[in-house]
Amino acid sequence: MKACAHSGSIKTVTPSARGCEECLKSGSTWVHLRICRACGHVGCCDDSPHKHARAHFRATQHPIIEGYDPPEGWGWCYVDDKEVDLPDQTPQLGPIPRYA
Ligand SMILES: [Zn+2]
Ligand SMILES: [Zn+2]
Ligand SMILES: [Zn+2]
Repeated sequence: MKACAHSGSIKTVTPSARGCEECLKSGSTWVHLRICRACGHVGCCDDSPHKHARAHFRATQHPIIEGYDPPEGWGWCYVDDKEVDLPDQTPQLGPIPRYA
């Protein structure tokens, strides 16, 4: 298996929002959150209705995301479709809004 060659794009980022940026604007809900390790965009996962994290990847080509809700410290590369090691874990901005 080929190693991920995108680790150079991993940066220390500040979360763009407490939850999925687009879902918060449109009043939608999500299942889990992903944070972009190139720019800090917070989006929702592929199990969520709108898949905003993947949409962000398609729009920007930022390859690496980190699991953010809950923060578990793992990374994922959309280009290689595989887990990647992250040098650190992004601290959460604050409590994640919940819609139950
Ligand atoms: Zn990669
Ligand atoms: Zn979303
Ligand atoms: Zn990004």
